[in-house]
Amino acid sequence: MKKKAHIISKIVPGSIAEELEIEAGDKLLAIDENEIEDVFDYQFLIQDTYIEVLIEKPDGEQWLLEVDKEYDEDLGIEFENGLMDEYRHCHNKCIFCFIDQMPPGMRETLYFKDDDSRLSFLQGNYVTLTNMSEHDIDRIVQYHLSPINISFQTMNPHGSLTVHYSLGYSRNPYISALRLFFCQIFILCLHGMARYGIM
Ligand code: SF4
Repeated sequence: MKKKAHIISKIVPGSIAEELEIEAGDKLLAIDENEIEDVFDYQFLIQDTYIEVLIEKPDGEQWLLEVDKEYDEDLGIEFENGLMDEYRHCHNKCIFCFIDQMPPGMRETLYFKDDDSRLSFLQGNYVTLTNMSEHDIDRIVQYHLSPINISFQTMNPHGSLTVHYSLGYSRNPYISALRLFFCQIFILCLHGMARYGIM
């Protein structure tokens, strides 16, 4: 199967990557034979004193580079996509959506409806949990991503309601998973109550 390729946009001068002759336009394919799903995998995998980095050059040639470094030393690589993955977008269709109400002609990125727990952790964005898979939840637990900011929005005959909730992290991954689970139950209950006009 073809490996996911991450296009390198910049190399930090004086870095390990420059020393290894990695250049902008090269692609990162794997570290220690692990495919890299997003920036969390990347940051996790480079935290070691010896790693093997698989790079693909623009002509298709692949270089397997052995790196000896300090445990937490950065490679000095910047990627075209900072998240190293597609941004997850919102699957909801709120009739009061604030993005749909934005005036036309503004910066294109302002119209993107993101709903991505990774951006919640990195930038403080709010997520609705409505597009999350088991895999996404497993990664929150695996990497102890905290806090995750959750936004609950609904409409009832009397108006709209928005609740913002910040999901904290526990050192125990099972407690983190339980918190996420109960948060989803809580949101389902709120949806049900709003639907039947209880609130
Ligand atoms: S969840 Fe937010 S971005 Fe998505 S449709 Fe509703 S208001 Fe718009």
